[in-house]
Amino acid sequence: MKLPSCAAALAAAVLFTSLTGVSEASAAAEALPSVNMEAAVKAAQIDPRRPDSTLTPGAKASVLLVEQALRDRSFLDAKWVDGYFGTTTVAAYAKYQKSLGLSGLDANGLPGKTSLTKLGAGRFKVTDVIDPGARVSTGGFVVNARTRSMLAEARRLLGRDLKLDQGSYNPGGDPTSAGTHDGGGVVDISVKGMNSATRTAAVRALRLVGFAAWLRSPQQDDWPWHIHAAAISDTSLSGQAQHQIGDYYLGLNGLAGRGPDDGPKVTIRTWEEYQRR
Ligand SMILES: [Zn+2]
Repeated sequence: MKLPSCAAALAAAVLFTSLTGVSEASAAAEALPSVNMEAAVKAAQIDPRRPDSTLTPGAKASVLLVEQALRDRSFLDAKWVDGYFGTTTVAAYAKYQKSLGLSGLDANGLPGKTSLTKLGAGRFKVTDVIDPGARVSTGGFVVNARTRSMLAEARRLLGRDLKLDQGSYNPGGDPTSAGTHDGGGVVDISVKGMNSATRTAAVRALRLVGFAAWLRSPQQDDWPWHIHAAAISDTSLSGQAQHQIGDYYLGLNGLAGRGPDDGPKVTIRTWEEYQRR
């Protein structure tokens, strides 16, 4: 009688310890704060273009966690840990990406899923993950899966085809694009056969699904009429395209002269926000 009860007590103790261990581990994971990746990426596009130190709404807590982690790894001076994802924080994030062995677009200073998850190990959870997806071919041009889905939805809204003139990941493609097409998320769309109203409707449809899109005239960028569209918050954007999107949020036209946006005005949403609307 005594022996079995002793064995049972031992078994119960072992079981209790292992259960406690598991629950403590999951409690620790639960207790970690969250970095909202969508919010951090939004701030990293807008803040470097701001004329002042206004913070991007809804991003401060996430940006602070990223900045604290960059500071603790000596990529960012403590005085820049302020919730503002400006030029210095973007540069620090790019240095951190390079320290992981990443290069090119993978070290573009925008938090990507892989680098952000590694940065948060033991410190924070990453929520609201953005995934540009694999490179795919569409209409003879290379884009990523996220961009392709966005284009498909814009065509559906518009009720007509949108033919590409230029794709993404195309360094040196259009000499007037100043590097915007070097990375992901950026396409040029042909306006052949579109009248003025259709061109405007096409830009509007592209904006609604999450592109910073503009009708470009030969006077504006010395290239035939076309629509230039950059997918907001694509984490593989080139540096120039990141700036264009920041300017779009700030009501500007995305050109070097930083003139006012020429519309059509819509509520600015990312592809992820559009899908949740
Ligand atoms: Zn373009």
